[in-house]
Amino acid sequence: MFTIFIFSVLSFFLGMILSIAAYKFQLKKDPAIEIINELLPQSQCAQCGYSGCYPYAEAIVSNSEKIDKCIPGGADLISQIAKVLNIEIPLDILLIKNKEIFNTTVLIDEKNCVGCAKCATFCPVDAIIGAPNFMHTVLQEFCTGCNICLSHCPTNCIQIKKRDL
Ligand code: SF4
Ligand code: SF4
Ligand code: SF4
Repeated sequence: MFTIFIFSVLSFFLGMILSIAAYKFQLKKDPAIEIINELLPQSQCAQCGYSGCYPYAEAIVSNSEKIDKCIPGGADLISQIAKVLNIEIPLDILLIKNKEIFNTTVLIDEKNCVGCAKCATFCPVDAIIGAPNFMHTVLQEFCTGCNICLSHCPTNCIQIKKRDL
């Protein structure tokens, strides 16, 4: 009986210590992580090499990860992250990145589009427009070529296409 009591008290204090440590650790997190996370498209697609947007934001701030790994965010995102971190991105790098990231886009084959709007729901940059039950269209100037929409189309009518640069 006494042993159970001792274990209960120890567990209680251990729990308290862990909660306080977790709280303090949370307080120490750099606020830039949240700011950058809010800039990210929240597609959780893992194209950046991380399991989701928040881990990528954490890696940028805490591990000096490169800021150009989020393809769905496009080149605009690179500039926005650089602004938060107060670092300069040379214009030529942005232009090269623009070309690398934007070298493909997607097209919707109108004959097979049933207007379900699933593609538009999952597009992180709102590059797909169309009324429900009518053909949808990709706005090329906004599409970052992330290909997230492809796997959500039930009729496989979205095709990758080389972009005219
Ligand atoms: S690639 Fe971009 S949108 Fe996809 S999980 Fe990474 S940060 Fe999020
Ligand atoms: S239209 Fe498709 S490929 Fe283009 S940005 Fe949207 S989800 Fe990505
Ligand atoms: S998901 Fe496919 S079928 Fe549905 S609206 Fe988009 S392109 Fe058309």
